[in-house]
Amino acid sequence: MTARSAPARPPIPVGRFEARLAAARRLVAERDLSALLVGVGADLRYLTGYVAMPLERLTMLVITSDGPGRLVVPRLERDPAERSTAARGGLVEVVAWDETDDPHELVASFISGRGSVAVSDTLWAVHLLRLEAELHGSTFVPGSSVTSELRIVKDADEIELLRLAAQAADRVIEQVVAGPLVGRTEADVALEVRDRLVAEGHDAAEFAIVASGPNSASPHHEASDRVIRPGEPIVLDIGGPLGGYGSDITRTIWVTGGDDAAGPHDEFRGIFDLVRDAQSEATAAARPGVAAERVDAVARGIIAAGGYGPQFIHRTGHGIGLEGHEEPYLVAGSPDVLRPGMAFSIEPGIYLIDEYGARIEDIVICGPDGPIALNEAPRELYVVDG
Ligand code: ZN
Ligand code: ZN
Ligand code: ZN
Repeated sequence: MTARSAPARPPIPVGRFEARLAAARRLVAERDLSALLVGVGADLRYLTGYVAMPLERLTMLVITSDGPGRLVVPRLERDPAERSTAARGGLVEVVAWDETDDPHELVASFISGRGSVAVSDTLWAVHLLRLEAELHGSTFVPGSSVTSELRIVKDADEIELLRLAAQAADRVIEQVVAGPLVGRTEADVALEVRDRLVAEGHDAAEFAIVASGPNSASPHHEASDRVIRPGEPIVLDIGGPLGGYGSDITRTIWVTGGDDAAGPHDEFRGIFDLVRDAQSEATAAARPGVAAERVDAVARGIIAAGGYGPQFIHRTGHGIGLEGHEEPYLVAGSPDVLRPGMAFSIEPGIYLIDEYGARIEDIVICGPDGPIALNEAPRELYVVDG
């Protein structure tokens, strides 16, 4: 593998965190919440730039409508917390607790009144149970009721990181389809994908779906010891975070092993073309003011008209940002209407159990004037002869 210098990851400037924290504080006031409590995870990173491991020791950002933002951390994590962008910018006050202190009691001491408390969705239950005991009389609501509202629209710095991640994933697709693929196991190709994702600048390789032959009919197939043979498709769905923001691309390949008679047959070409049309028409539909469920309906309508409606067994797409799957979801029943700055996948597929499947996936931004596909790798069927 050729060594490349990883692309720069432009840091999110402190002014963004100032605006995000102010917006969170405003929503806490507007919704009459006594506090927003944010544990370790994407919400904490979004609001402060602090990336921490989820632990049995409590780390928690406390936001009230008045008062300063407080970042409550175990004493031994004080240094990394102080180095977060929000703490360095003086936007939050780091409050360290000692091993013999009760951090849940400490958090409760910053909250006056016993109204509704929003708690981040991924906070460990053990912490929530302790907080409930400290804040008896309060009702608890999902923190996403505040944070998704903020995170669902990406700013220019976030879009730039999503673009860099998409471009890095595009390069990995091009490298992997250069082959050889025939005669290798799915797991071996997945290992190559993971190495290349990191070499191209990802923080980590999060997933590498290599689904060959009949395995391509399983959307979330785990790469196995199956050996790739001539005359079959491979669905490649890969990605991971870059500067915290995710890539997620799927391309469908057909391997011939150099034998012209092992090329894609008409039925496979037929389902691939339907998926490609559904993907491009759904992308074109992703404009400001359009309901998220409408984009799903466009893709689903094309595949159903082609006779494969029941074989399109998942939603058309999911939001992406600091988390690989986040709001908005492109699915029937979604309450979301697309706004400029929303980022999501568009990834229709058709899956014929025990035979094969096909999927195409790009990350798309809802731009002010229409869709902007961040992935630029060709969306045609890749026919690979090696
Ligand atoms: Zn998926
Ligand atoms: Zn994917
Ligand atoms: Zn996806």
